[in-house]
Amino acid sequence: MKKLLNCISIMSLLVLTACGGATVINPEKNAVDFTIEGGEEKVDVKADGTWNVKECPEWVTAEIQDSILVIKTARNETGAVREGDIVLAGKGQVQAAIKVTQAAKCTRINPETDKVEFEKEGGTQTVRIDTDGSPQVEAPEGFTATYAGGVLTINAPANEEGAKNGEIKLTGDDQSATIAVTQKGNICPKCNGTGKVKCSKCGGQGEYFSEAYMSVFGCSKCGGGGQLEKPGSSEEDWYDYGFHKGSGKMKCPQCGGSGH
Ligand SMILES: [Zn+2]
Ligand SMILES: [Zn+2]
Repeated sequence: MKKLLNCISIMSLLVLTACGGATVINPEKNAVDFTIEGGEEKVDVKADGTWNVKECPEWVTAEIQDSILVIKTARNETGAVREGDIVLAGKGQVQAAIKVTQAAKCTRINPETDKVEFEKEGGTQTVRIDTDGSPQVEAPEGFTATYAGGVLTINAPANEEGAKNGEIKLTGDDQSATIAVTQKGNICPKCNGTGKVKCSKCGGQGEYFSEAYMSVFGCSKCGGGGQLEKPGSSEEDWYDYGFHKGSGKMKCPQCGGSGH
Protein backbone atom coordinates (compact mmCIF):
# COMPACT_ATOMS: atom_id res chain seq x y z
CA MET A 1 0.00 0.00 0.00
CA LYS A 2 2.77 2.39 0.94
CA LYS A 3 4.55 1.57 -2.26
CA LEU A 4 1.41 2.37 -4.18
CA LEU A 5 1.04 5.74 -2.45
CA ASN A 6 4.64 6.59 -3.25
CA CYS A 7 3.96 5.60 -6.80
CA ILE A 8 0.99 7.90 -6.96
CA SER A 9 2.88 10.84 -5.44
CA ILE A 10 5.69 10.39 -7.89
CA MET A 11 3.16 10.09 -10.68
CA SER A 12 1.36 13.28 -9.68
CA LEU A 13 4.67 15.06 -9.36
CA LEU A 14 5.54 13.95 -12.87
CA VAL A 15 2.16 15.08 -14.13
CA LEU A 16 2.60 18.53 -12.52
CA THR A 17 6.10 18.90 -13.86
CA ALA A 18 5.05 17.70 -17.26
CA CYS A 19 2.02 19.94 -17.48
CA GLY A 20 4.02 22.89 -16.04
CA GLY A 21 1.84 25.97 -16.03
CA ALA A 22 -0.38 26.73 -13.07
CA THR A 23 -4.12 26.90 -13.61
CA VAL A 24 -4.55 28.92 -10.40
CA ILE A 25 -2.23 31.73 -9.28
CA ASN A 26 -3.10 33.36 -6.01
CA PRO A 27 -0.71 36.00 -4.56
CA GLU A 28 -1.30 36.73 -0.85
CA LYS A 29 -1.70 40.39 -1.78
CA ASN A 30 -2.52 42.25 -4.94
CA ALA A 31 -0.86 45.52 -4.10
CA VAL A 32 2.50 46.49 -2.61
CA ASP A 33 3.44 49.99 -1.47
CA PHE A 34 6.96 51.33 -1.23
CA THR A 35 8.18 54.48 0.46
CA ILE A 36 10.29 56.98 -1.45
CA GLU A 37 13.33 55.08 -0.15
CA GLY A 38 12.24 51.82 -1.79
CA GLY A 39 13.25 48.48 -0.36
CA GLU A 40 12.14 44.89 -0.52
CA GLU A 41 8.76 43.19 -0.14
CA LYS A 42 8.01 39.49 -0.23
CA VAL A 43 4.73 38.14 -1.54
CA ASP A 44 3.79 34.52 -1.07
CA VAL A 45 2.18 33.08 -4.19
CA LYS A 46 -0.08 30.05 -3.98
CA ALA A 47 -0.29 28.14 -7.24
CA ASP A 48 -0.99 24.64 -8.47
CA GLY A 49 1.88 24.61 -10.90
CA THR A 50 4.71 26.68 -12.26
CA TRP A 51 4.40 30.37 -13.04
CA ASN A 52 6.67 33.12 -14.15
CA VAL A 53 6.94 36.91 -14.23
CA LYS A 54 5.50 38.00 -17.55
CA GLU A 55 5.56 41.75 -17.04
CA CYS A 56 7.34 44.03 -14.60
CA PRO A 57 7.78 47.83 -14.51
CA GLU A 58 11.35 48.80 -15.41
CA TRP A 59 11.91 50.44 -11.98
CA VAL A 60 10.97 47.22 -10.18
CA THR A 61 12.80 43.94 -9.93
CA ALA A 62 10.80 40.79 -9.25
CA GLU A 63 12.59 37.59 -8.43
CA ILE A 64 11.03 34.20 -7.84
CA GLN A 65 12.34 32.27 -4.83
CA ASP A 66 10.37 29.02 -4.67
CA SER A 67 6.78 30.12 -3.98
CA ILE A 68 7.79 33.66 -2.99
CA LEU A 69 8.02 36.67 -5.21
CA VAL A 70 10.69 39.10 -4.00
CA ILE A 71 9.93 42.63 -5.16
CA LYS A 72 12.56 45.36 -4.94
CA THR A 73 12.67 49.04 -5.75
CA ALA A 74 15.37 51.67 -5.42
CA ARG A 75 14.82 55.21 -4.14
CA ASN A 76 12.28 57.11 -6.19
CA GLU A 77 14.19 60.06 -7.66
CA THR A 78 11.52 60.94 -10.22
CA GLY A 79 9.70 63.43 -7.96
CA ALA A 80 6.35 61.78 -8.77
CA VAL A 81 4.44 58.81 -7.41
CA ARG A 82 5.01 55.84 -9.68
CA GLU A 83 2.94 52.72 -10.13
CA GLY A 84 2.84 49.68 -12.32
CA ASP A 85 1.79 46.05 -12.44
CA ILE A 86 3.76 42.90 -12.04
CA VAL A 87 1.99 40.23 -14.06
CA LEU A 88 2.43 36.58 -13.17
CA ALA A 89 1.57 34.03 -15.81
CA GLY A 90 0.78 30.34 -15.60
CA LYS A 91 -0.73 27.97 -18.10
CA GLY A 92 -2.33 29.55 -21.17
CA GLN A 93 -4.17 32.75 -20.27
CA VAL A 94 -3.91 32.22 -16.51
CA GLN A 95 -2.56 35.42 -14.97
CA ALA A 96 -2.43 37.38 -11.72
CA ALA A 97 -1.34 40.94 -11.17
CA ILE A 98 0.31 42.70 -8.25
CA LYS A 99 0.11 46.47 -8.29
CA VAL A 100 3.29 48.22 -7.18
CA THR A 101 3.20 51.83 -5.98
CA GLN A 102 6.08 53.96 -4.79
CA ALA A 103 5.65 57.27 -2.97
CA ALA A 104 7.44 60.37 -4.24
CA LYS A 105 7.83 61.99 -0.86
CA CYS A 106 7.07 61.52 2.75
CA THR A 107 3.43 62.43 3.44
CA ARG A 108 3.13 61.47 7.10
CA ILE A 109 5.20 60.96 10.25
CA ASN A 110 3.00 59.78 13.11
CA PRO A 111 4.75 58.49 16.23
CA GLU A 112 2.56 56.24 18.40
CA THR A 113 3.45 58.43 21.38
CA ASP A 114 4.78 61.96 21.84
CA LYS A 115 6.39 61.31 25.22
CA VAL A 116 9.07 58.88 26.40
CA GLU A 117 10.39 58.68 29.95
CA PHE A 118 13.52 56.99 31.22
CA GLU A 119 14.47 56.07 34.75
CA LYS A 120 17.84 57.33 35.90
CA GLU A 121 19.32 53.91 35.15
CA GLY A 122 18.72 54.62 31.43
CA GLY A 123 18.08 51.96 28.81
CA THR A 124 16.50 51.51 25.40
CA GLN A 125 12.92 52.19 24.33
CA THR A 126 11.23 51.91 20.97
CA VAL A 127 8.45 53.96 19.44
CA ARG A 128 6.51 52.84 16.39
CA ILE A 129 6.38 55.48 13.68
CA ASP A 130 3.64 55.39 11.07
CA THR A 131 5.34 56.96 8.05
CA ASP A 132 5.78 56.51 4.32
CA GLY A 133 9.20 58.10 4.37
CA SER A 134 12.53 57.58 6.08
CA PRO A 135 12.60 60.40 8.61
CA GLN A 136 15.81 62.11 9.62
CA VAL A 137 16.30 61.93 13.37
CA GLU A 138 17.74 64.55 15.66
CA ALA A 139 18.18 63.69 19.34
CA PRO A 140 18.90 66.11 22.20
CA GLU A 141 22.12 65.93 24.20
CA GLY A 142 22.23 62.94 26.52
CA PHE A 143 20.08 60.73 24.26
CA THR A 144 20.60 58.89 21.00
CA ALA A 145 17.88 57.91 18.54
CA THR A 146 17.86 55.99 15.29
CA TYR A 147 15.06 55.19 12.86
CA ALA A 148 14.76 51.99 10.85
CA GLY A 149 11.82 50.14 9.35
CA GLY A 150 9.02 51.99 11.11
CA VAL A 151 10.65 51.89 14.53
CA LEU A 152 12.46 54.65 16.39
CA THR A 153 14.98 53.29 18.90
CA ILE A 154 15.87 55.68 21.71
CA ASN A 155 18.80 55.14 24.00
CA ALA A 156 19.66 56.86 27.27
CA PRO A 157 22.77 56.04 29.32
CA ALA A 158 22.56 55.98 33.11
CA ASN A 159 22.13 59.50 34.47
CA GLU A 160 24.22 60.42 37.49
CA GLU A 161 23.40 64.09 37.14
CA GLY A 162 20.22 66.10 37.45
CA ALA A 163 17.05 65.24 35.52
CA LYS A 164 17.33 65.61 31.73
CA ASN A 165 14.82 66.47 29.11
CA GLY A 166 14.63 67.41 25.47
CA GLU A 167 12.91 66.76 22.18
CA ILE A 168 13.58 64.22 19.48
CA LYS A 169 12.82 65.68 16.07
CA LEU A 170 11.73 63.58 13.11
CA THR A 171 11.69 65.24 9.72
CA GLY A 172 11.05 64.06 6.18
CA ASP A 173 10.31 66.37 3.25
CA ASP A 174 7.77 68.86 4.62
CA GLN A 175 6.61 66.54 7.40
CA SER A 176 7.84 66.59 10.97
CA ALA A 177 7.04 65.27 14.43
CA THR A 178 8.53 65.63 17.87
CA ILE A 179 8.76 63.29 20.83
CA ALA A 180 9.52 64.67 24.29
CA VAL A 181 12.11 62.67 26.18
CA THR A 182 12.85 62.92 29.87
CA GLN A 183 15.15 61.07 32.19
CA LYS A 184 15.10 61.11 35.93
CA GLY A 185 18.37 61.94 37.62
CA ASN A 186 19.94 62.40 40.99
CA ILE A 187 18.65 65.54 42.65
CA CYS A 188 19.83 66.67 46.06
CA PRO A 189 16.75 66.59 48.34
CA LYS A 190 18.18 69.21 50.68
CA CYS A 191 18.45 72.00 48.10
CA ASN A 192 16.03 70.48 45.55
CA GLY A 193 18.71 70.65 42.90
CA THR A 194 19.50 74.36 43.26
CA GLY A 195 22.82 73.81 45.04
CA LYS A 196 21.97 76.53 47.56
CA VAL A 197 20.21 76.67 50.91
CA LYS A 198 19.30 79.46 53.34
CA CYS A 199 22.33 80.73 55.21
CA SER A 200 22.46 79.12 58.64
CA LYS A 201 24.27 82.07 60.27
CA CYS A 202 21.97 84.95 59.27
CA GLY A 203 18.80 82.94 58.56
CA GLY A 204 18.69 84.31 55.02
CA GLN A 205 18.86 87.99 56.01
CA GLY A 206 22.43 88.57 54.80
CA GLU A 207 23.15 90.49 58.03
CA TYR A 208 22.71 90.11 61.75
CA PHE A 209 22.51 92.30 64.82
CA SER A 210 24.80 91.80 67.73
CA GLU A 211 23.54 93.00 71.11
CA ALA A 212 27.06 92.90 72.50
CA TYR A 213 28.34 95.50 70.05
CA MET A 214 25.04 97.24 69.30
CA SER A 215 26.00 96.83 65.66
CA VAL A 216 24.74 95.22 62.44
CA PHE A 217 27.21 92.96 60.69
CA GLY A 218 27.23 91.80 57.09
CA CYS A 219 27.00 88.01 57.23
CA SER A 220 30.42 86.61 56.39
CA LYS A 221 29.02 83.13 55.82
CA CYS A 222 26.95 84.15 52.78
CA GLY A 223 29.32 86.67 51.27
CA GLY A 224 28.74 89.76 53.38
CA GLY A 225 31.11 91.63 55.68
CA GLY A 226 31.84 94.81 57.55
CA GLN A 227 29.87 96.50 60.26
CA LEU A 228 27.36 99.26 60.78
CA GLU A 229 27.81 100.82 64.19
CA LYS A 230 25.23 103.03 65.81
CA PRO A 231 26.81 105.33 68.38
CA GLY A 232 24.72 106.12 71.44
CA SER A 233 24.91 109.90 70.92
CA SER A 234 23.34 110.54 67.53
CA GLU A 235 20.25 108.85 66.08
CA GLU A 236 21.14 109.89 62.53
CA ASP A 237 24.75 108.95 62.01
CA TRP A 238 25.71 105.39 61.53
CA TYR A 239 29.34 104.57 61.15
CA ASP A 240 29.93 102.30 58.21
CA TYR A 241 32.96 100.07 58.59
CA GLY A 242 32.93 98.55 55.12
CA PHE A 243 29.49 97.10 55.59
CA HIS A 244 27.99 94.96 52.88
CA LYS A 245 25.13 92.55 53.06
CA GLY A 246 25.49 88.87 52.28
CA SER A 247 23.32 86.99 49.76
CA GLY A 248 21.43 85.13 52.51
CA LYS A 249 22.17 81.85 50.75
CA MET A 250 25.00 79.45 51.19
CA LYS A 251 26.34 76.45 49.37
CA CYS A 252 24.27 73.34 50.05
CA PRO A 253 26.23 71.32 52.65
CA GLN A 254 24.75 68.02 51.39
CA CYS A 255 25.75 68.22 47.73
CA GLY A 256 28.47 70.85 47.97
CA GLY A 257 26.55 73.13 45.61
CA SER A 258 26.28 70.76 42.66
CA GLY A 259 22.52 70.20 43.12
CA HIS A 260 22.77 66.42 42.66
ZN1 LIG B 1 24.38 84.62 55.92
ZN1 LIG C 1 22.14 70.21 47.70
